[in-house]
Amino acid sequence: MRNGEVSFWWRARGIPPLRPGLPGSTDADVCIVGAGFTGLWTAYYLKRADPGLRVVVLEAAFAGYGASGRNGGWVTATLPGSRSRYAAHPRGKQGVRELERQLRETVDEVARVCRDEGIDAGLIKGGTLTVATSAAQDARLRQRLEHERSWGDGPGIVRYLNEEELAGRLRATAAVGALYWPDCARVQPADLVAGLAGAVTRSGAVLYEATPVTSISAGRARTPAGDVHAPYVLRCTEGFTADLPGQHRTLLPMNSSMIVTGPLSDAAWQSIGWNGFETLSDEAHAYIYAQRTADGRIALGGRGVPYRFGSGLDHDGAIVPSTVAQLGRVLRRMFPVTAEAGIEHAWCGVLGVPRDWCATVMMDPRTGLGWAGGYTGHGVAAANLAGRTLADLVRGVPSPLTILPWVGHRSPRWEPEPARWAGVRGLYALYRAADRLESAGRSPRTSLLARAGDLISGIPQ
Ligand SMILES: Cc1cc2nc3c(=O)[nH]c(=O)nc-3n(C[C@H](O)[C@H](O)[C@H](O)COP(=O)(O)OP(=O)(O)OC[C@H]3O[C@@H](n4cnc5c(N)ncnc54)[C@H](O)[C@@H]3O)c2cc1C
Repeated sequence: MRNGEVSFWWRARGIPPLRPGLPGSTDADVCIVGAGFTGLWTAYYLKRADPGLRVVVLEAAFAGYGASGRNGGWVTATLPGSRSRYAAHPRGKQGVRELERQLRETVDEVARVCRDEGIDAGLIKGGTLTVATSAAQDARLRQRLEHERSWGDGPGIVRYLNEEELAGRLRATAAVGALYWPDCARVQPADLVAGLAGAVTRSGAVLYEATPVTSISAGRARTPAGDVHAPYVLRCTEGFTADLPGQHRTLLPMNSSMIVTGPLSDAAWQSIGWNGFETLSDEAHAYIYAQRTADGRIALGGRGVPYRFGSGLDHDGAIVPSTVAQLGRVLRRMFPVTAEAGIEHAWCGVLGVPRDWCATVMMDPRTGLGWAGGYTGHGVAAANLAGRTLADLVRGVPSPLTILPWVGHRSPRWEPEPARWAGVRGLYALYRAADRLESAGRSPRTSLLARAGDLISGIPQ
């Protein structure tokens, strides 16, 4: 089994040779720090709107080295944050509904760009399934459906599938029902981010790799090779943000881990079904997420070790054996036939979590400093919408995007250590205890345990 090497996705396509680093100090109109989806989509839309703009992207490693090249490949319309918290914005509930509508359209926008730019990322819009594998999970799914309906989401946006309807799509052990949202696509994320980086450089933006930014201030991004001076400097560093001076408590780098099987046999696929390529999760508190890959494997992710003391980062995605074993157990429990294919590769990455679990798109016109992120693990589509929004904000063009409720949203800072570490570890210990009780058929107390975890961590209900 391969471990780390950034991700299976990158190993499958091959890590490309590095683009040149910043040769020395230079000037630009817009300097973007970080070449993941957020930074690259921002550069892409800036250049499309105004080809004359001098856009420089500075990347510490290579484009797509972070979460963008390691994720579960869900291009999901899931709101990266809490409806009730975004509803505190002056536009209230209507603003939240509009943000959600824009996110749904973003799934199609990503597909459109893939078509127009010739990016073959195996994108299939098959929707997403959240399955219940116990009575307690099923009860939570039904509550969730009621909640969605109370926000106005009709059956065109989300619907319940009973056991039989679900089995027509996918057969997982003990699955008794599911919620289905049509607005989600599956991709090979490294293919998407690499294709996007190509589109960005073709547009005339300059992407410097192996160029770590050591500090950001108004008008300047500093690197060991020299400074980039620009009236607009945009921080697009998501789970890596804590390493920048002054940002240690802005976003918590939450770790997420993945495994991928070898290719499954035709017989295995016949027993599983899954011909619609829906992305898949369960309704456990410590939930998993999965996709059927374009080359006939199952890639499955979950939390593993959720957080490293002091906002520490992984080394090129390497993960501990206990996490591989834990995810492998979940996979074999759901799909016993996957045992034949074994686990071929495991890796991890960090996503950015703000203290109130709500993403932000920010631009301070006084300083020219902007940023977007804090997608809490739902950033593949959201980064596209954030990038389009940042592009409008930089150009000073009022648009339907610049008034969405995540624009200018301010999250509190995280507590200093060791409270941060204890809080996140405690949250997942409670979630796992709740899931164990549910598996043992003792469900009534689980909601209390999980709710206690939510309260500690600030996860909204
Ligand atoms: C394992 C995993 C699974 C996930 N699954 C999903 C999913 O299925 N669907 C979904 O919607 N979301 C998912 N996410 C989250 C999603 O991948 C992220 O929200 C999204 O990719 C964030 O993009 P980004 O560009 O903001 O950040 P990143 O992709 O992390 O990019 C940040 C970039 O900034 C660079 N950088 C950092 N610091 C500096 C610096 N000082 N100087 C220069 N460059 C710097 C990094 O090297 C990196 O390339 C997952 C995340 C992980 C880790």
